[in-house]
Amino acid sequence: MSVVDRQQWDVVVVGAGGAGLRAAIEARERGARTAVICKSLFGKAHTVMAEGGIAAAMGNVNSGDNWQVHFRDTLRGGKFLNQWRMAELHAQEAPDRVWELETWGALFDRTRDGRISQRNFGGHEYPRLAHVGDRTGLELIRTLQQKIVSLQQEDFKETGDYESRLKVYQECTVTRILQDTASDSASATGGRVGGVFGYARESGRFFVLEAPAVVIATGGIGKSFKVTSNSWEYTGDGHALALLAGAPLLNMEFVQFHPTGMVWPPSVKGILVTESVRGDGGVLRNSEGKRFMFDYVPDVFKDKYAESEEEGDRWYEDPDNNRRPPELLPRDEVARAINSEVKAGRGSPHGGVFLDVSTRMPAEVIKRRLPSMYHQFKELADVDITAEAMEVGPTCHYVMGGIAVESETAAARGVPGLYAAGEVAGGMHGSNRLGGNSLSDLLVFGRRAGLHAAEYAAATTRPAIDGTQIDTAAAEALRPFSAETGEAGASMASGESVETGAPAGTVPENPYTLHQELQQTMNDLVGIIRREGEMEQALEKLAQLRVRAGRAVVEGHRQFNPGWHLALDLRNMLLVSECVARAALERVESRGGHTREDHPSMDRGWRNVNLLCSLTDPADGMSAVDPAQGRITLTRETTEPIRPDLLALFEKEELVKYLAEEELYE
Ligand code: FAD
Repeated sequence: MSVVDRQQWDVVVVGAGGAGLRAAIEARERGARTAVICKSLFGKAHTVMAEGGIAAAMGNVNSGDNWQVHFRDTLRGGKFLNQWRMAELHAQEAPDRVWELETWGALFDRTRDGRISQRNFGGHEYPRLAHVGDRTGLELIRTLQQKIVSLQQEDFKETGDYESRLKVYQECTVTRILQDTASDSASATGGRVGGVFGYARESGRFFVLEAPAVVIATGGIGKSFKVTSNSWEYTGDGHALALLAGAPLLNMEFVQFHPTGMVWPPSVKGILVTESVRGDGGVLRNSEGKRFMFDYVPDVFKDKYAESEEEGDRWYEDPDNNRRPPELLPRDEVARAINSEVKAGRGSPHGGVFLDVSTRMPAEVIKRRLPSMYHQFKELADVDITAEAMEVGPTCHYVMGGIAVESETAAARGVPGLYAAGEVAGGMHGSNRLGGNSLSDLLVFGRRAGLHAAEYAAATTRPAIDGTQIDTAAAEALRPFSAETGEAGASMASGESVETGAPAGTVPENPYTLHQELQQTMNDLVGIIRREGEMEQALEKLAQLRVRAGRAVVEGHRQFNPGWHLALDLRNMLLVSECVARAALERVESRGGHTREDHPSMDRGWRNVNLLCSLTDPADGMSAVDPAQGRITLTRETTEPIRPDLLALFEKEELVKYLAEEELYE
């Protein structure tokens, strides 16, 4: 049996971004001994990259704003596929979560009369994003980190140990959710949670944290795509961990391509250009100098967006008497429009379009309101955005699909003791997320996940984890050192150097090559515009990659070995990519972040259809299977009808565009 370090906690939170830290704070404040695990250093999670702000209907800049308007915008943005109760809770609770951050020390930008300032963003009817310049995520994480440290100081006073009730395990990766083998519900998967298995990235040593409740808050999946704004951490780990534990994923076909990523130079392709640039007055032009977005306002949004440049420009000064410019349409609409302009030969020299602030506001205002963008372009592309336009194009940015959760509790469906919050959870954003709605989602549902995980842990018995599960997890993690020989054993569990190389007769594979091929496949065949034949090709390619990933070999030993880490991440990226491709093939309509060239319209018949992905053979790790079959089983589920008082927030003429005939009748 593998000898690994074991520790006991009440709640384990996997992920130290906004969702994970907020969950951990809540769980600890509710009395649960809480551990947080993260792949990067504490304070360096992907959330720090968030720029534009946190959406919350505080009504500080326009008093017309309230939670009902925010709810309405969120459903419109998600094309009515949102888990409506989540959207309701989110809109209602987001202002409290922002105010709470302020009481914990966050320093937001202010209005002239001293209130928290709020800025415009695509799809939001009123200025709604609380922000700190264009570095809001950094301030959010800094504040939550500070709160955690203050709780640890309280604990020190009482117990003499800073980490007695709240401990962060940084630079550690979780590879498996373990099951409670003492419970009656123990089965291949779907039994009660017992804890997690992981390794320290620096030493390669394995460890087990036993806990009756685990919160997954691992963020997104963007590193499966070639052009992405996402950080290295986004390898879909939490999505895969949930699948492997027996929890289904919801609506994985919905992947958001942000309209404005950098397109040049190649080394920085995909890095985000924040939507605040457009929110603050920036405009999109094609190679002919035309503000082309006026040609791309879809019917469902026609009455809400300006028809002329003059009206759009007036809106910035007088939003009550003018309609907003179409540059501020939801992201999916803008990304598709840019794609069409480039395809029609009206793109910029490096395959994007132009985003201009230089002719729209004085240089000092640009530098004050968009400091990160100014530096990003100056340093990475040698472009001065106060003097010339940026070149931008779509980049894979966010996954709306995720772990299927209960709206109130954030409990993952099908696995008692498992919770999920943040980008890794599905449902909240429907088919497309509005900018700013992620940071608020992290706070609202991070808190809820922590609260319910703590309550669950207090009410249940301690789990037991048998040695077999740990041995299996250790062998799986060691496989890249002796690919397909099955020789990885307990002797390597201590972290010493091991012999490497593929066995005779097999072709060893390089994990970096496999990753590049996966990214190219997803970008080219399951990207922003999708076609049936291409997605079928993608599934075949993914099946081949999966077989080859079983032969991925790494050299050296377990200390500081990024090749090994990538080889392990490949399992997750391949699983999640198959979910995206399979669900995208199944949904024969275009909606939000899912655009089918062969089914270009939104179909009201699909409005209330959720697609759930689960693992076909729970015991299966990376083995070769029939490509047509794959490892993922899809099931259709009808969504719960939207509550009548929430539907009453919309005009009937608008609902007719979205809801199926029978839903309208009801
Ligand atoms: P993250 O912050 O990514 O945290 C995930 C955590 O999980 C990390 O600590 C990671 O180390 C850990 N982890 C992952 N896998 C494992 C594993 N196997 N084991 C252990 N730990 C693991 N949204 C907005 O609302 N407003 C904005 O202005 C905004 N701007 C953005 C700008 C950019 C450039 C990008 C890329 C995104 C932006 N977003 C914005 C989206 C938003 O930042 C993310 O959706 C959000 O931060 C996700 O937070 P999270 O807590 O779910 O995950």
